[in-house]
Amino acid sequence: MDHTKLLCDISELNHLFRDSVSVENFLQQITEMVSSHMQTEVCSIYLYDNDEEILTLKATKGLNHEMIGKITLALGEGLTGISLKELRPINISNATQHPDNKLFLGTGEQDYESFLAVPIARGVERIGVMVLQRQQSHTFSDSDVLACKAVASQLANIIENARFIISMHSEHEEKAHPTVKESQSRLIHGKVASEGYCLGETLVLDKEKTFNSLLQRRFTRLYTIKDFKKAVKQTENQLEEMQEEVEEKLSDAASLIFASHLLILKDHEFIGQMENMIALGTNPPQAILQIAKKYMDIFDKAQNIFVREKVQDIEDLTVRLISNITSDQEIVPNYRGKVIIARDIFPSELLKMTSEKIGGIILVSGGVTSHLSILASSLAIPMVIANDLTLLKVANKTKVLLDAETGNIYLKPKQDVIDEFQRRNKQKEKILQLEHNVKGETLTSDSQKITLLANINLLGDISLAKKVKCEGVGLYRTEFPFIVRNNFPSEQEQYVTYRKLVTSMKGQPVIFRTLDVGGDKMLSYYHNTIEQNPAIGMRSIRFSLENKDVFIQQIRAILRAGEGENLKIMFPMISSIDEFDAAKSIVLECIDSLHNESEGFNSKPAIGMMIELPSVVELIDDFAKEADFFSIGTNDFIQFMLGVDRTNEKVASFYMPYHPSVLRAMKTIVESVQAHGKEISVCGSMSSDEKYIKFLLGIGLRVLSVNPSHLPRIQKVINSIAISDAQAYATELVSQKRACDVARLMALQD
Ligand code: PEP
Ligand code: MG
Repeated sequence: MDHTKLLCDISELNHLFRDSVSVENFLQQITEMVSSHMQTEVCSIYLYDNDEEILTLKATKGLNHEMIGKITLALGEGLTGISLKELRPINISNATQHPDNKLFLGTGEQDYESFLAVPIARGVERIGVMVLQRQQSHTFSDSDVLACKAVASQLANIIENARFIISMHSEHEEKAHPTVKESQSRLIHGKVASEGYCLGETLVLDKEKTFNSLLQRRFTRLYTIKDFKKAVKQTENQLEEMQEEVEEKLSDAASLIFASHLLILKDHEFIGQMENMIALGTNPPQAILQIAKKYMDIFDKAQNIFVREKVQDIEDLTVRLISNITSDQEIVPNYRGKVIIARDIFPSELLKMTSEKIGGIILVSGGVTSHLSILASSLAIPMVIANDLTLLKVANKTKVLLDAETGNIYLKPKQDVIDEFQRRNKQKEKILQLEHNVKGETLTSDSQKITLLANINLLGDISLAKKVKCEGVGLYRTEFPFIVRNNFPSEQEQYVTYRKLVTSMKGQPVIFRTLDVGGDKMLSYYHNTIEQNPAIGMRSIRFSLENKDVFIQQIRAILRAGEGENLKIMFPMISSIDEFDAAKSIVLECIDSLHNESEGFNSKPAIGMMIELPSVVELIDDFAKEADFFSIGTNDFIQFMLGVDRTNEKVASFYMPYHPSVLRAMKTIVESVQAHGKEISVCGSMSSDEKYIKFLLGIGLRVLSVNPSHLPRIQKVINSIAISDAQAYATELVSQKRACDVARLMALQD
């Protein structure tokens, strides 16, 4: 195809642009011209905002026009985002199947197979992306790509000149709508942290704002000391009710979660000072606010996270007291069914919200393998992490469709989007029902047995794990009951929780992973200094060895709970044999001391370790002689192999499970451990991801520990794999030296 005419037309547009009043109109003309010339059904232009770091669809020929301005992508997100990030064209023939492709509901994109994205850039300065799409499944020819690159470079110059106009538009819009009342529907793409979906209304969590607005409020009505006492009692009853509700559901984790609220409420100083002020003539709401503010100011200065968390507790409590005394229901946010938008949430807050039945969560920071995400999954709360601070400005009660299956957030969704979404969910439910026909035994297509174990975070996960017929627990994250509480659970409290787990598994193996706190799993009552690098700080097994009393109580509780059962104890984050020896000797000491007591216990637990640190790889042969079993924690293993923070969404694209070093190291580990006749499994997120199952089986893994909700899907995938194919596939993957080549080979499998 001769593209000269197109290029001439485009340069003509330079003049056209100068006369044009609207940048959007100008871009629209370009898309029409390019699509007609290149004979593509679709041509779209996305522009990049350097400050917000997002790409937005600005013009399109072929896609639904209503999506203009609403589809946004982060740099590196989807094929379009990758093209701009890596400043290279992306040309593929089967876009709908591509793992990096992002399909947006309501655009009509699902009909197009050929896909060409060409970055619009000046040097390394990113300006936008031009995307061409065709229904037919063919890659674009080299000359098409060249022509588009030429168009893109012309456009770069023109748009560069137009930038100030575009920015003036957006500034004007900002001023007109300081708190962004969404006038139209908008789509934001995020990452799925906990699967599910919810159609509800937004509630931006900004407690400070609620409290500050109360501080400025004038209470014209006068209240009495009797009203105050009544409000205190009413608040106490509400908190106790909430406590009961959450405990019923989460007996292991939620114990005394509202305890500090109740304690403050019963504190004579706190309430007494309010009563004194009231006696001297201050209107009770004013007295409540003044005293609360005084305490909050004192606590706010503290460095300690625990104390800072208390500030929030006082804030919560005060808001509740004012709401009760004034009978103003509007003050205390009603969480029920709401999609909460927040910068960050404490695990304990998440539990509190669960007790109030929230619909879903949107976080504007964090990572999908962070522990808040893991906790949200266990609590079955849909959660999406979207790196978009404008979300915090969304007006409350804005209708929102949170699709935590794809990561899409639709603000003010149109009815057709809701309909399409509901139709998809109905189909999914049908598939899920089929999938729930899980078998008790998992076989490959060539009849090799694979053992599927469950990852358990809270006791509430057990019922699903049993429903999907797991063959035991491959990872019980014991830290969750520790994280959400206000103090360390005692040995007896731990025993009760652990015993419930062990007995409900009826003789199946249960792997207790010892306390893995620190990193993003802070104990607010313990971690009183803020570490520069918590992920590599006083965490995990280091914490346990440093705090032997806590460790000993936990080991004793585990040993006692495992009496007569198939008990396995596993240490997290082991970095050296010395550390493994030290941890193991504590287990042996606990066994010794329990022999002298009357309690029943398990004197022969298997003692194993997680493989999460690169330092283990080099010594794996020696480790294999020491530990009884191993489990690869890929979440941390990848984080530390690649030096990428798993909780930081901004570096998520560097977090590559398919990196050749990760794959080769895993193969070495599995082979060495098996050569010593020891058992090895994978319990990180990689084993719950369909994409990696063939590789895992190919390197010899026969035991996988997965999230119970993923087990049916994983079983189905395994049923379709033959071990000999998997071996050849794994060999091919590990022979690659570039991550992009591994990704390409993996994409071919889909
Ligand atoms: C892991 O690191 O892969 C793992 C299973 O442990 P956690 O996710 O609890 O850190
Ligand atoms: Mg880990």
